[in-house]
Amino acid sequence: MRLSKFIVPTKKETPNDAVAASHILSLRAGLFRLLTSGVYSVLPLGLIVKNKVEKIIREEMNAIGGNEFLLPALSPNELWDETGRLEDFGDIIFRIKNRELVLAPTHEEVFTSIAKSYINSYKHLPQMWYQIQTKFRNEARPKSGVLRGRQFTMKDAYSFDATWEGLDKSYEQQDAAYRKIFGRCGLKFFSVTASSGAMGGSKSEEFMVESDAGEDLIAISEDGKYFSNIEVAESFIEKVGRKDSNLKYEEFHTPDIKSIEELAGFLGITDKSRLAKSRVFVLPAKAEGEKDKFILALVCGDDEVNETKMQKYFGANIRPGHPEELLAITGADAGSIGPIGLKNKDVEIVADFRLQDSDELVSGANKNDYHIKNIDFKRDVPGIKYQDLRVVREGELTIDKTSKIRITKAIEVGHIFKLGTKYSESLRAVFLDKDGKENPVIMGSYGIGVERVIASYIEQNHDENGIIWEGEIAPFGVLLINITTQNPEITKFCGELYGKLSADNFEVLYDDREDLRPGFKFKDADLIGIPVQGIVGEKNFRDGKIELKRRRTGERKLVDSKDVAVEIKNMMNAR
Ligand code: ATP
Ligand code: MG
Repeated sequence: MRLSKFIVPTKKETPNDAVAASHILSLRAGLFRLLTSGVYSVLPLGLIVKNKVEKIIREEMNAIGGNEFLLPALSPNELWDETGRLEDFGDIIFRIKNRELVLAPTHEEVFTSIAKSYINSYKHLPQMWYQIQTKFRNEARPKSGVLRGRQFTMKDAYSFDATWEGLDKSYEQQDAAYRKIFGRCGLKFFSVTASSGAMGGSKSEEFMVESDAGEDLIAISEDGKYFSNIEVAESFIEKVGRKDSNLKYEEFHTPDIKSIEELAGFLGITDKSRLAKSRVFVLPAKAEGEKDKFILALVCGDDEVNETKMQKYFGANIRPGHPEELLAITGADAGSIGPIGLKNKDVEIVADFRLQDSDELVSGANKNDYHIKNIDFKRDVPGIKYQDLRVVREGELTIDKTSKIRITKAIEVGHIFKLGTKYSESLRAVFLDKDGKENPVIMGSYGIGVERVIASYIEQNHDENGIIWEGEIAPFGVLLINITTQNPEITKFCGELYGKLSADNFEVLYDDREDLRPGFKFKDADLIGIPVQGIVGEKNFRDGKIELKRRRTGERKLVDSKDVAVEIKNMMNAR
């Protein structure tokens, strides 16, 4: 490809409000262009990379027996109504005005509807289906460029099995394929067990790339053996324990004390572990006639309640109580709530394991501006249950005490889910088993964000000058730079070299642009980030030499023109 004819609109300036390196560099290097909030055009250089990522995905999906489909982005409302997801997705789903259609944010429903008509016997199972298709999600705050678009490309795969063991196998196949895909894409990644949240299912794993641009918080052990989304992470904890002083609990006045920090200050203590922090949660009634359920969750004053863990124990719909509810349930406002003397006697009380059977605790008195001290959970709070409710913290020991936990940000590039029968049941996708009995098909779903893979690669492979491509997804292998286009001899030589290298199966981008200063071309070269630069200028040309530069290291080498192919290969394969 000749750069004079190839559209790569590079930019010097950092685009407005771009913060993430991948966002800034992908716009500056002319891979993508913003059309409107969260919507990007893919430009020619970006499309080469995108096609390469998709090629890798296709190869690995086909290698595990995937059938490639292409389902429509438009789909009828009623299909989404049947699974209840029109409501679940809420404002995220793009709806076509005055038409009974949505732009699909994902394709479980449509794939299941095809499975329903095609799969009716165990003989048709298992199946692995996938597509690479545009998805639409009206993300609340699309930021960070293509990392979170409102329109993006997803590889979504779905497995259909007759048995749960079959699902395990399909899931493992996808898991292995994902590792190959992300490895081939040059990502340093790890996987974490995720909470399956609103999707509903028995197991799910997220593939993560560590990056400051990430929106997920991950707990990683320093020895690299433990990875977990903070939402479900656990660590070794020491119980607060008992002092067995057997003091009676007693109320005391705490005027204007609203937070644990203020309470600690008021009491003149620094260790907040015995200040039990209370939060009220509401689990709304499922059916009419049922009552809402109220839960008081207690953690140590230096801890935070983990809302995902609360969801896991009590149900996905659980939510923090509103101020009016707090007052009605406990008799006090936030800041003065505790396990003793609750107004509503039906509140379920759970405390974190750290507080198990502890005494000499301080908590709110359920009366504004009052707290109670010397609470003994064992003695004073009958019916209290204990569970892991807390958010792990940086520096804590892993459960096996062999390493320390560090908290870091990461980007989710892929997600694999055991869906089970949620969709096949609601859409009645059933098959006849060996005994002629009708069963819902057992499903899994597996997604990869294509643009997000590209942006994640850039997050991990860039410097202050630009992107650093290497390996399979590099848009080109070599950038041949003619820095003296005024000299027809050199231009002729470069043209021939470009032809020779291309014939030799190198993917060559040739900077043949005229009337540009060498400095300008070098800046563009580093910004675009092709792995090896071959620089041809007046002086070296006369000596029969070409200068090669490796983008990642900046290492330069003068090579004989006749050896250039071999030397480029060496440089490309260098680690
Ligand atoms: P997130 O938590 O980041 O919103 P998700 O859990 O909604 O992701 P899935 O529904 O599991 O994502 O989609 C599968 C994959 O699609 C994700 O792992 C991610 O790589 C990609 N993806 C999801 N939403 C977006 C988006 N708005 N822009 C770009 N890629 C996305
Ligand atoms: Mg999402």
